[in-house]
Amino acid sequence: MKKINEIFYSIQGEGYYTGVPAVFIRFSGCNLECDFCDTVHNPGKLMSEQEIVDMVQSFPAKHIVLTGGEPSMQLDDNILSLLKSKGFYLQIETNGTLTSGFDAVTRWCDWITCSPKKNCIRKQMDELKVVFQNQDMSIYDEYSCKHKMLQPCSMQNTKEVIEFIKRHPEWRLSLQTHKYLHIR
Ligand code: SF4
Repeated sequence: MKKINEIFYSIQGEGYYTGVPAVFIRFSGCNLECDFCDTVHNPGKLMSEQEIVDMVQSFPAKHIVLTGGEPSMQLDDNILSLLKSKGFYLQIETNGTLTSGFDAVTRWCDWITCSPKKNCIRKQMDELKVVFQNQDMSIYDEYSCKHKMLQPCSMQNTKEVIEFIKRHPEWRLSLQTHKYLHIR
């Protein structure tokens, strides 16, 4: 059984896969308590692996976003292999701070999007996704990734983000388009 906050069908609003129709599985719970967290992820209901698969199969898209909270807290070979066996493309959004669950993630997930928080131990990912808060950006030099995505903080500092990206073109702009569009 997994504690699931919600499963819904929408468009990926941010990051590399912006615009892609996707089924979101939001796992309940996180190992961190970031003060800027804007996701209500703690409430949830227990669902069996089969119930989860049945629900995601009721939507037409084949792209799944495993998100949270911190989804790797609950991910294992059982649920991931079951989803893969149904032909889904698996993208995980993680804070990169956990080891447990990650062996299974690396075995089965097609795409790792990491928004590294303090104590991030994951140094390799497909996509590094960072919220710009005037932090020292050199801290991200240690990460190895295919794409570096930079987001404004709550849509407030877009101009600063664009100026930063123009000076550092290895980064790309990521907008939380679902917030602009008022969709989930
Ligand atoms: S890691 Fe992400 S989900 Fe967890 S508390 Fe921080 S912002 Fe929220």
